[in-house]
Amino acid sequence: MSTLLEVKNLKKHFPIKGGFFRHVVGQLKAVDDVSFTIPKGHTFGLVGESGCGKSTLGRAILRLHEPTGGEIRLGGTDITSLNRKELVAHRKDMQIIFQDPYASLSPRRTVMQTLLEPLEIHRIGDAASRKKKVLELLDIVGMRANVLHRYPHEFSGGQRQRIGIARALTLDPKFIVADEAVSALDVSVQSQVLNLIARLQRELHISFLFISHDLAVVQHISHQIGVMYLGKLVEIASSTDLYRKPLHPYTKALLSAIPMPDPDTKSDRTILQGDVPSPLHPPSGCPFRTRCPDAMPVCEEAMPELKNLNENGASHEVACYLY
Ligand code: SF4
Repeated sequence: MSTLLEVKNLKKHFPIKGGFFRHVVGQLKAVDDVSFTIPKGHTFGLVGESGCGKSTLGRAILRLHEPTGGEIRLGGTDITSLNRKELVAHRKDMQIIFQDPYASLSPRRTVMQTLLEPLEIHRIGDAASRKKKVLELLDIVGMRANVLHRYPHEFSGGQRQRIGIARALTLDPKFIVADEAVSALDVSVQSQVLNLIARLQRELHISFLFISHDLAVVQHISHQIGVMYLGKLVEIASSTDLYRKPLHPYTKALLSAIPMPDPDTKSDRTILQGDVPSPLHPPSGCPFRTRCPDAMPVCEEAMPELKNLNENGASHEVACYLY
């Protein structure tokens, strides 16, 4: 399977200003030295608690936030080195689906106007071919042509998210960041939208970065999963390996927090103590050490490197001194 997206040592630091002259007094390391790849037509699930840097990572890959360092290659093109004009031309290859479909759709635009806009901006086709494209998009996301002249407030949350997905598909992207795309939806609607995303990935061979705080949601849709904590990836494995044999204490804690279908089933639950520390003042060494039940003196000294334990021939990377 050929690689579509390659992220190498990506960093996004936000300067913190203080004092009378607003000098830079520190750096908030929202994304710190993150590397991973996504093959064509695959979904990479990105999980972690809120505030761990997942959304910033998704936006930095699309250059909606300018990266502080590192490299992003999409289909062989170095996205990080593109100037503004070149970036506009490549924007159509990479799109985003937002968490709140209502906030991301203009309340004053009909479905037709919303879906036509990207085609008009990029001067793709004429009036007739654009309308044909809009009808095709509605069909792909399971909506009828009679919604074309309706406004966002006339739809349910699930329908609005379908419109958001149709808009993301308008320019035939190769890569989509789905940022908490189903978190605002009811559970029954969630599974419909997840099935739709899985179908798009299968039939249109689009690669997804699927961001969620919910490991149970990510499991069903992802080929590979990255677990993020305080701006760093602490474990990367195939979806099957991560659920069958989690290695990092943080991943184990996240997994044990997933509710069991049978409340009488006993599990070795690890309850995470406290909140994620402030990224302004991260702990020394391993960022998870202040909440880790297995922390050792060595964990204070330096951040453990991501190591590939390469079990059964499949890559399984973990950053922890236990391994
Ligand atoms: Fe816990 Fe140490 Fe592993 Fe960090 S490196 S997860 S503190 S055992």
